[in-house]
Amino acid sequence: METKNAQYFMDREARYGAHNYHPLPAVLERGEGIYVWDVEGKKYIDFLAAYSAVNQGHCHPKIVTALNEQASKLALTSRAFYNNVLGEWEEYMNKLFGYDKMLPMNSGAEADETALKLTRKWAYKVKGVPRNEAKIIVCNGNFHGRTITIVSMSSDPDAYNDYGPYTPGFVNIPYNDLEALEHALQDPNVAGFLVEPIQAEAGVYVPEDGFLKKAAELCKKHHVLFVADEVQTGLARTGRMLACDHEGVRPDILILGKAISGGMFPVSCVLADDEIMLTIKPGEHGSTYGGNPIAGKVAMAALDVIQEEKLAENSEKMGKIFRREMRAVKSDMIEDVRGKGLLNAIAIKPMQGRSAWDVCLGMKENGILAKPTHEHIIRFTPPLVINEEQLMDAISRIKKTFNDFGF
Ligand code: PLP
Repeated sequence: METKNAQYFMDREARYGAHNYHPLPAVLERGEGIYVWDVEGKKYIDFLAAYSAVNQGHCHPKIVTALNEQASKLALTSRAFYNNVLGEWEEYMNKLFGYDKMLPMNSGAEADETALKLTRKWAYKVKGVPRNEAKIIVCNGNFHGRTITIVSMSSDPDAYNDYGPYTPGFVNIPYNDLEALEHALQDPNVAGFLVEPIQAEAGVYVPEDGFLKKAAELCKKHHVLFVADEVQTGLARTGRMLACDHEGVRPDILILGKAISGGMFPVSCVLADDEIMLTIKPGEHGSTYGGNPIAGKVAMAALDVIQEEKLAENSEKMGKIFRREMRAVKSDMIEDVRGKGLLNAIAIKPMQGRSAWDVCLGMKENGILAKPTHEHIIRFTPPLVINEEQLMDAISRIKKTFNDFGF
């Protein structure tokens, strides 16, 4: 059989697929743990981990087994009937995260939409905001997904340009700005404050210590829901099970996605207590695939792995080593190294026409896969199963790349 090179696959995607992504030229066909292999047999350390969906490493055997066993037994019933897995999964989630109820969805964006709908319902049914007047505070630089309503909250022209008319009812404030939050909270029609504990997609912006705690306290004072989007920061990525755990904050509504399935299957969910969750009645929200038995079994296996393999602890420890080593690199191209746990970024200063994209191409040659976000920032988010020896190997490859540039 004729072997096909990477160019063949890239050309075929370009010819037949929408051009809504600009991938690095690596065509992957296999993954195991922290490693992926391309169609030409080259091995890489994956430093993106599918935007933090693959925290447990590629094709984790326990998650693969859960998927296979449930897929050959019962995959989907819709919510028209009960299935014998959903309740077990809901109980598992509520006991693990300490909430009364879970609402399952599929993608992160859908879970965010669900949280927005819950926040508005709660405003009308519980807080007593006049109908259609509810407002939700969001932060500039946010990333919560790609739906029309979600891009209506965005301050990123790539995300919102030419998608109007936009959904009203959002108040944008600067990130990490308690004064602006307190000011916005004066409006009695504010129902919720939706926030990422670290702005990952924007370029890994870590707020000041105490920001989340104070923000949550301010929300409580003003009878406003504190809604945390932990789709990317959650599930051990930042060195705690949730990024909010760093400050002992319990969100009123918690949004999870990505690593809840270890990259095996689209699974997301929202967790909240009865006062909030039970404002939505039968028929008022849902999804054909949400709560399917495969999702339940896969999610429980993926969350077991995070706990059994102590991935939060490992993330915290490896993250410290990563930042220490990167801060020691002598390169004028490195403007800033920042992050928490294994959610890290390096801000790149372009030099002599060489940009973050060129650094990523150079790293690819040296066996590391990462991708720029917002042009000058490279996110470094390997699977959390990476051990110290593997991390030091990766670090030497990254250092070599900067040395090769010679700046
Ligand atoms: N929320 C956050 C914080 C994210 O980082 C993302 C994706 O990167 C999403 C929501 C959207 O998730 P999805 O791509 O699964 O819709």
